Amino acid sequence: MTANGERPGESAVASGLKITDVQGLYLRLPEIKARTDSSQDALIVRIETDAGITGWGEVDGCPLVTKAVIDAPMSHNLVSGLRVLLLGEDPFDIARLWRKMYESTLYFGREGAVIQAMAGIDIALWDIKGRALSQPIWKLLGGAFRDKLRVYSSNMFQFTPEATADRVRQAKDEGFTAAKFGWEPFGRDAATDCAYLDALRKAAGDDFDLMLDVGLVWDATTTIQRAKLFEPYGLYWIEEPLHPDDLRGYGAVSRAISQRLAAGEEECTYRGFQRLIDEGGIGLAQIDMTRCGISEAMSIASYAAKRGVMVANHNFTTDINTAASLHFLAAVPNALVLEYCVEPSEISRNLARNPFRQEDGFMRVPDAPGLGFEPNMETIERFLVRDN
Ligand SMILES: [Mg+2]
Repeated sequence: MTANGERPGESAVASGLKITDVQGLYLRLPEIKARTDSSQDALIVRIETDAGITGWGEVDGCPLVTKAVIDAPMSHNLVSGLRVLLLGEDPFDIARLWRKMYESTLYFGREGAVIQAMAGIDIALWDIKGRALSQPIWKLLGGAFRDKLRVYSSNMFQFTPEATADRVRQAKDEGFTAAKFGWEPFGRDAATDCAYLDALRKAAGDDFDLMLDVGLVWDATTTIQRAKLFEPYGLYWIEEPLHPDDLRGYGAVSRAISQRLAAGEEECTYRGFQRLIDEGGIGLAQIDMTRCGISEAMSIASYAAKRGVMVANHNFTTDINTAASLHFLAAVPNALVLEYCVEPSEISRNLARNPFRQEDGFMRVPDAPGLGFEPNMETIERFLVRDN
């Protein structure tokens, strides 16, 4: 080990595996609608090894930008694409490779697309390590606090209150005990917002948790007024009423409202969550595995636990995200619930040969080696964009 914590190139206790390829696969539905729905395309990360073990990861970002971050050649020591940094490396050295990627992208990285690309790679490396050792990832992370997660149905608001209420009835029929609704057209005026929440609560009944994802449309004053108005609806949490940069606003809101305040899906690093927790006063940190990676998510959850803050995943994409979230939330003490996107995108719903299913409102943590995700190559072939 060197003075700065880096190991020299070859580890004394190598796994015997070497990374032979890192690919970004861009999948896209034939039609992309202008909605805040990230289940319409995907960037899947595939890492190959000389032992024939393949790891899978995913990035919920801008797919072709992520792909470029992976594929770019090295320019110099502080500017490099990620693939060339990983070729020939030991896939078990996840922490060392994370630091190598971080330090070799300093001039254009540290946040955003580069960290998101690293997140997809991080998930794939954990998948390889688990498959090679015949262990589920949660075991490698230190063991499981639970063998299943309460899961909520995550939905877009529909364009009428009644159509939105139909989604709650559907969720109840399927066995969910909680559902979230988010984004447009919610938030425009108080009367319309109350009409939506009224229809949702009537359809849900009292014994069902409703979460509200506002979609970044209010300032702090409006949020505090609306939260007071919404108290009769008994919301389980209020998510992202403010722009993620408005930390001062989050602080004011968190001190004023009675509901739990949730945020974090735009953040990729420990630093972003530290600010949301310490300055914003959030009560639930929502961590997207496909933007932060499993390794960084463990650091974030550890910090949140020390501050008495619960964590959940953010997931509006595929079963790779679902699998990574299940392993992560199983392995931390302060997990609240699992987000599961129910939008009917064929990429999201059909990417796995073994799709994750909820039963009576819970989803079981996989026991299979690695992520426990098996790719459906027909879906990948069908939606793969080749002309880029
Ligand atoms: Mg959200």
